[in-house]
Amino acid sequence: MDTHYDVIVIGGSFAGLSAAMQLARARRRVLVLDSRRPRNRFASHAHGFFGQDGKAPGEIIDEATVQLTAYPTAHVAIGAACIAKRVDDRFIVTQSSGSSSSAARLILATGIRDELPALPGLEERWGVSALHCPYCHGYEVADKRLGVLATHSLSIHQAMLVPDWGPTTWFTQGIVDPSAEEIALLEARNVRIERKPVVEVLGDAPNMAGLRLADGRVVEIDALFLGPRTQMASPLAEQLGCAFDESPIGPVIRVDEWKQTTVPGVFAAGDAASAWSNATFASAAGVAAGVAAHRSLIGGL
Ligand SMILES: Cc1cc2nc3c(=O)[nH]c(=O)nc-3n(C[C@H](O)[C@H](O)[C@H](O)COP(=O)(O)OP(=O)(O)OC[C@H]3O[C@@H](n4cnc5c(N)ncnc54)[C@H](O)[C@@H]3O)c2cc1C
Repeated sequence: MDTHYDVIVIGGSFAGLSAAMQLARARRRVLVLDSRRPRNRFASHAHGFFGQDGKAPGEIIDEATVQLTAYPTAHVAIGAACIAKRVDDRFIVTQSSGSSSSAARLILATGIRDELPALPGLEERWGVSALHCPYCHGYEVADKRLGVLATHSLSIHQAMLVPDWGPTTWFTQGIVDPSAEEIALLEARNVRIERKPVVEVLGDAPNMAGLRLADGRVVEIDALFLGPRTQMASPLAEQLGCAFDESPIGPVIRVDEWKQTTVPGVFAAGDAASAWSNATFASAAGVAAGVAAHRSLIGGL
């Protein structure tokens, strides 16, 4: 104990490194703590991120880390923060290694964890042929036999979207019962609706060849889109007493437009604080959190 910083950023991926960059360029002392488990680590390539399309996610993060640590007041440490608490006018963050640091402000950029439905064969295909977002990975599976697996009521929006990438079957899983009007919209998009539940994913993993249904039929599918339910990747926001909002896919930390949480001095950005999740949104939110944390250090937003 105990090195003191202006700001500790917990999570060193798209949101956290973007936040820290603003603070480093404002010549503030900033520590980024990162346990190296970004949400997209299952994918070999990231898409749609400005200037980085098609690069490996780890490569983007490594390059951003090198650029950040070129600034003399920026520090990055690899490790997991397990306790964060306010003591008087500072926040103390303790890592699982036992070491601790303190700061005047905290930025939580800890991301979320996807909870895949318990479907045999799904987990080993996540990020390759089982995909969360057509904008991120649809182009690479264009014109193949595509599926959308319902996990919650919003699945119908994904089913409406995916036909722009290829012929689409929507598996309702007994979770969604589309109205006559919705069926008409889906039919207008040439979406085939399959109501028998999928019980197994087939093929040579991580590739996909088809889905076995509860009645034994096999539907040939090359790539399956689904929006899993999500959980916070870290309990720190709850520990600190931050309020949450419930999005259709899971909890998100409640923030205002400048990423201030309900706990003064604690900011949050990225997937952990937004239901709109991709690398660009996370990075932009990180920039806002970094700027806001800096402005709060000088006495106002
Ligand atoms: C399979 C898959 C593929 C994707 N592909 C794309 C794509 O191609 N393009 C795109 O724009 N988006 C993609 N996304 C979405 C993208 O991954 C997320 O929107 C983005 O990673 C969110 O950034 P973030 O910084 O908020 O969180 P993350 O990237 O998840 O990073 C959070 C970081 O915080 C760290 N952390 C968590 N808790 C702690 C702790 N207690 N102490 C220290 N560190 C901690 C984690 O280790 C991690 O490094 C994909 C998502 C998935 C699931």
